[in-house]
Amino acid sequence: MKLTTALLSVSDKTGIVEFAQALAARGIKLLSTGGTAALLKKAGLDVTEVAEHTGSPEILDGRVKTLHPKIHGGLLGRRDNAEHLATMEQHGISPIDLLVVNLYPFRETIAKPNCSFADAVENIDIGGPAMLRAAAKNHGTEQGGVTVVIDPSDYEQVLKEIDQFGQPSYGLRLKLASKTYAHTAAYDGAIAQYLTALTDAEPAQESTPARQQWPETVTIQIQKHQELRYGENPHQKAAFYIDPVRGNGLLGNYEQLQGKELSYNNIADADAAWECSRSFDVPVCVIVKHANPCGVAIGATPFEAYQKAFKTDPTSAFGGIIAFNRKVDLAVAEEVSKQFMEVLLAPEYTEDALALLAAKKNVRVLKVSSGSEQNPFDVKRVGGGWLLQDPDAFDVPAESLKVVTKKQPTAQQLNDLMFAWKVAKYVKSNAIVFCANGMTMGVGAGQMSRLDSARIAAIKAEANGLSLKNTAAASDAFFPFRDGLDVIVAAGADCIIQPGGSIRDEEVINAADEHGIVMVYTGTRHFRH
Ligand code: 5GP
Repeated sequence: MKLTTALLSVSDKTGIVEFAQALAARGIKLLSTGGTAALLKKAGLDVTEVAEHTGSPEILDGRVKTLHPKIHGGLLGRRDNAEHLATMEQHGISPIDLLVVNLYPFRETIAKPNCSFADAVENIDIGGPAMLRAAAKNHGTEQGGVTVVIDPSDYEQVLKEIDQFGQPSYGLRLKLASKTYAHTAAYDGAIAQYLTALTDAEPAQESTPARQQWPETVTIQIQKHQELRYGENPHQKAAFYIDPVRGNGLLGNYEQLQGKELSYNNIADADAAWECSRSFDVPVCVIVKHANPCGVAIGATPFEAYQKAFKTDPTSAFGGIIAFNRKVDLAVAEEVSKQFMEVLLAPEYTEDALALLAAKKNVRVLKVSSGSEQNPFDVKRVGGGWLLQDPDAFDVPAESLKVVTKKQPTAQQLNDLMFAWKVAKYVKSNAIVFCANGMTMGVGAGQMSRLDSARIAAIKAEANGLSLKNTAAASDAFFPFRDGLDVIVAAGADCIIQPGGSIRDEEVINAADEHGIVMVYTGTRHFRH
């Protein structure tokens, strides 16, 4: 069967004139919508406007252009069905064999910083997806059917097959139809995601989430960024998908300046390191291993911050991920290069720092932009479903802390407590973190008992030659019994920060008073799993 009529209606007009010329040269009749038709006419092509073809003008600011039985009948009528062909004849509907459409640029529009809601809505294409879905449905049989093209990079192949067979082969029509449905699904996904984000847009107040209720269905649109060599383990295949709408969240917006390909674990750990480091507004260094910080410190400079962070646990820092929230200069690059690291992350690097790092070919150096947007929610896969929650975006303000012991904290103790609390938020539960002078002194992570986390933090500090005497300790959740507190005090801490809220709070407060230490409550916990 020979292809006789094409309908062209495109927003992205790349290559459309040349393609239309090639179609016209093959004797194919051209139908087109306003803007596309004007462009083709300007190029000297003989085009029939859809409005003329249907006898219905484009109306409602272009909201209705092609939504007409003469168009949809022409796309949907089965070529191998005598009844369909008779009905088409009866209603003056002529077949449309080739549909070339790409949609209003919705994603590009909402990505613009000043995009208004009205702009976004006007860029929701209606007639385009309707035609695409109709044409894709009627891609037909070996004998013939409708060819649907959404991507200028397919123009050439379509022309080649028209020359070869009179119309594209069944194989190509099927492939283009499936590509089309993937495209319209992603397009609607982006719209749903945009609108869902707006319904959540109320700013969160303190620890109370603004979300009133969760939508019945959630569309999450993700886009393949890169295939990974493997997943957590070599027998698992994996890929990194990014959020194209909020691609500036955490790692969505990084640039790899050098080094080996990022692995699945590198990305997960780098994300954890970056999440922690970007939460500080003073120079900080965060060293991460297996998604847990094994050294975090603030300093007057990134150099000082790194030296302190490294001291926490040099053994664990080996092969770690190192993140800075400030520019990395030559001195920092030299210092971090003394040890083996998997990934280095920072918002910026000086030229000489990059030149020095270039000698360490394997080290993955990432330039990360902080991005201001919060991810709309956290997602976790469980068997048979997904868990969604608001991200843990809450930081307790210093003035909300409640001192519950007889002893009051000094200014220095308060600073250290706030620092320890901030770090504990990024340590897997149960988390116990000892700190002093803006530096982690012992980190106990991911244990099933708070008591064990406290013991491990103390053991690690000792193993690394650090004294926990007069340190500040944070516990990510309350102490169910006084024993955890006793271990922390025995290790040397003289002040503790924790949420409070246990039914044995009184027992725990009495224990703190008995030890003569300071304890403050945050009122909010930070479990992290
Ligand atoms: P043109 O620039 O040719 O005037 O418009 C092309 C765009 O209009 C394409 O992106 C196409 O998907 C879209 N389009 C075609 N028909 C309709 C319709 O009936 N309603 C809407 N909203 N868009 C349409």
